[in-house]
Amino acid sequence: MSTLTLQEQLLDAAELMQQARQIVALTGAGISTESGIPDFRSPGSIWQLQPPVSYRDFINKPEARQQYWQTRRHLSSQVKEARPNAAHRALADLERRGILLGVITQNFDGLHQDAGNSAERVIELHGTSRAAACTICGARSSITELQERVDAGEVDPRCPACGGFLKAATILFGQRVPEAEITRAKELAAACDLFLVVGSSLKVMPAAMLPRLALNRNVPLIIINLQPTSLDSLADVAIAEKAGLALPKLVEML
Ligand code: NAD
Repeated sequence: MSTLTLQEQLLDAAELMQQARQIVALTGAGISTESGIPDFRSPGSIWQLQPPVSYRDFINKPEARQQYWQTRRHLSSQVKEARPNAAHRALADLERRGILLGVITQNFDGLHQDAGNSAERVIELHGTSRAAACTICGARSSITELQERVDAGEVDPRCPACGGFLKAATILFGQRVPEAEITRAKELAAACDLFLVVGSSLKVMPAAMLPRLALNRNVPLIIINLQPTSLDSLADVAIAEKAGLALPKLVEML
């Protein structure tokens, strides 16, 4: 735990960011909690009572698919109502200033794009909840129509092309992140001159290894996360504060 005050930490972080021209941000569920979408790993989360359905169970167990659609109904209404918060807007501000190479996000809520980050600069490692996808051929379709079919009582909707189960185009636990996304994320981590983590516990792979790629090149690492992460001791600055408070202050100092 740092002995510096928040203001001192922000000054240190701002000094590092002032020298950076190719910033890469890695974001997790924590950047969106202030937009009303709960994360899974914060103390007291519903995940501790009911773990999310894994990919293997979704494919193999009808009751897991039912649980998936039940949980999704709740989460999707939270995501639908959510608007970008000050932390998302601060990252969009970095792009407008021309010093943001890209945002690698573990989130599927689309709030970075809503805040103004251009779609080609946002890498969604865990997919998006704004579309549906087939679990076999990957064909995309409308998630709104799919959810309506499930709500109307359809059980196990299937892909018209190949017969695979349909679900939101997000990555479930145990499902592989597409190679193209991993490659692009690694390229960004290899090209950045500052790596910024916002609202991620850094416990989920492959995202958790990305800051290490930057650290191996002696690139400065700044972490903003409420709970401690495993990389805090290696970070140049680790700020245990709400992203919606700390990040806009930091960007204002540039
Ligand atoms: P995670 O492992 O990245 O943990 C979230 C972290 O954010 C926690 O360590 C917590 O301390 C921190 N945090 C919470 N609120 C914060 C705030 N206001 N400011 C700063 N830090 C804050 O993510 P997870 O919750 O374990 O979720 C696992 C995966 O599930 C994610 O990688 C994502 O794919 C998915 N998920 C996505 C969303 C979304 O799209 N908004 C929401 C929940 C889960």
